[in-house]
Amino acid sequence: MLGLKSDWLAEPKPRAFVLNDYEGGQPRWCPGCGDLAVLNAAQKLCRDEQLAPEKTVFVSGIGCSSRFPHYMKTYGFHGLHGRAFPIACGVRSRRPDLNIFVATGDGDCCSIGAGHWIHALRYNMKMVVMLFDNHIYGLTKKQTSPTTVKSYSSNTHPDGSFLSPINPITVSLGVTNASFIAQTVDWNPAHLYATLKAGFEHSGTAFIRIMQRCPHFTADMFTPFQNDPTKLLLMKHEKGIDGGEVVDRYFTNQVDHDPTNRAKAYELALHEEEIPIGLFYYNPNAEHYDQFSRVGAGMSAATKLEAVEKQLEHFLV
Ligand code: SF4
Repeated sequence: MLGLKSDWLAEPKPRAFVLNDYEGGQPRWCPGCGDLAVLNAAQKLCRDEQLAPEKTVFVSGIGCSSRFPHYMKTYGFHGLHGRAFPIACGVRSRRPDLNIFVATGDGDCCSIGAGHWIHALRYNMKMVVMLFDNHIYGLTKKQTSPTTVKSYSSNTHPDGSFLSPINPITVSLGVTNASFIAQTVDWNPAHLYATLKAGFEHSGTAFIRIMQRCPHFTADMFTPFQNDPTKLLLMKHEKGIDGGEVVDRYFTNQVDHDPTNRAKAYELALHEEEIPIGLFYYNPNAEHYDQFSRVGAGMSAATKLEAVEKQLEHFLV
């Protein structure tokens, strides 16, 4: 009997969670899709951190990767195109007790959702943002996305895309109050996992761009990088992401990068011949907007209604 206490405040008995506790519906992504690797890493992270499924929520927009919440046996919100961020910020404002993850694609985040992306980074509410960047709209069958490389032939630009792509890392680095900006690849499970874990441990918004293979529409996009690990540049620092010995041995092309150095992070983000992986930027002292937007979360419905009516009185003519 819970009495008048809200059910979400009730604490269940301590339990031990196994991988199966996080495995939702059978994924309907294409065989070999990089989304599957990210799903595995996220489920493993939830298990290792022993996140209660009823205290964890995955929020998404629209796109192949946005089917993510269906495949997690946690709470989920499959939102509207480009709207994953405001939903996640709303959840964070009302439910500070939840573990929040956002799954968004390059079309979802960097096109229709670009405004929300910028402001969510600025709000810096605690959540892990996974940007699945396969450089194409997959769900709508190979349309040019904001991150499609210039001259790449798609169904919307058969003669090749006209414009140079948006760089989600340099854009994110330009946002005031952004606090954690990292990059990884779906084909290296150790680095992918270490990056998600570091993001989860961060106190604000952890923005993680994941280079994601789409074997169905852009089969060869990342093949040169996958076949030659020296084409990836591992950013290393005591304040950075520690992928462990295996990652260090595999990625021999390394650079020492202090992630509190924003100018150097910007410089590294512009590398085109190689993919930098690791933590570009980190600021543990950035403000968190939910400290303000959470005001009133504990009020009763009657008190809230009274407050709303009082505010509306300002508009009486
Ligand atoms: Fe994955 Fe591409 Fe298939 Fe979408 S179209 S599920 S991104 S492989």
